[in-house]
Amino acid sequence: MSWKKEIESHLKYPFSLDNQSRPAYLKIAAPPSITAGFTLRPGGFSHGSFASANMSFQVGDQEEAVAQNRRALLYGAGVDFFSALVTAKQVHGKRCLTIVDSDPEKLEQVALTDADALLTDQPGILLGVMTADCLPLIMIDQEQRAVAVVHVGWRGLDQAIGVETVAQLSRDFAVEAENLQIFAGPAICSCCFQVGIEVVDRFRRQPVLAGVDSWYQERSSGYYIDLLSIQRAQLLAAGVAEKNFHEVDICTFCHGFCFSYRRDHAITGRQLAFVGIKENK
Ligand SMILES: [Zn+2]
Repeated sequence: MSWKKEIESHLKYPFSLDNQSRPAYLKIAAPPSITAGFTLRPGGFSHGSFASANMSFQVGDQEEAVAQNRRALLYGAGVDFFSALVTAKQVHGKRCLTIVDSDPEKLEQVALTDADALLTDQPGILLGVMTADCLPLIMIDQEQRAVAVVHVGWRGLDQAIGVETVAQLSRDFAVEAENLQIFAGPAICSCCFQVGIEVVDRFRRQPVLAGVDSWYQERSSGYYIDLLSIQRAQLLAAGVAEKNFHEVDICTFCHGFCFSYRRDHAITGRQLAFVGIKENK
């Protein structure tokens, strides 16, 4: 089966494959004023371990190839609507960075700033987080006032960065949790994500997981956790409506059309989750 057919067999509304642009990405059916999606591995300009659509400058890939991949994405997402693609220095923390100034120099500073979630209400800025097994989240206010992207590994989940992002959207932009649409992109699945007992013990202390089925499994080979079901439980407890939580059924480790940090033994590229409010220039 071709990778396109394989991907499409996993997709249902609100996710679809956009392969008109290079690199290909999973497109989210969003309101007309918003562009959002999750890039995949094929369709880029990088070579070797980073082939081909690597979006990270921090993994040892050639800078020019990454810049080309990012430019191609910006072009595919609508270069007429966005003047910049902004990513931060991801550190598995809980800091959420609100961007309200679209001055190019300020936006360049974001790349040097530690943050694992980016928020904005400004048109023309495409926000991104990079992942290769961690869970990427896109948040869109139904009233289209603000958007956010979040990088969620187990450490971020332990610090509830998703819930922190919802709280910051509420503080900064008066967005109500019940009006948020949440989109969870490709991430390592619960069959593949083995962790130590100490990780399971940390999550056992989270009250929101009491009564949640199968957020972890104990098998003969060890312990496995389900990032997605833990994230869903945290966000529903924070006021997100169940009908507004959308997840794509694609494991980065199981599928060669995704970068996977664990499968590729740490030397690999990164997918990008992106969202922005369009600006008509
Ligand atoms: Zn898997």
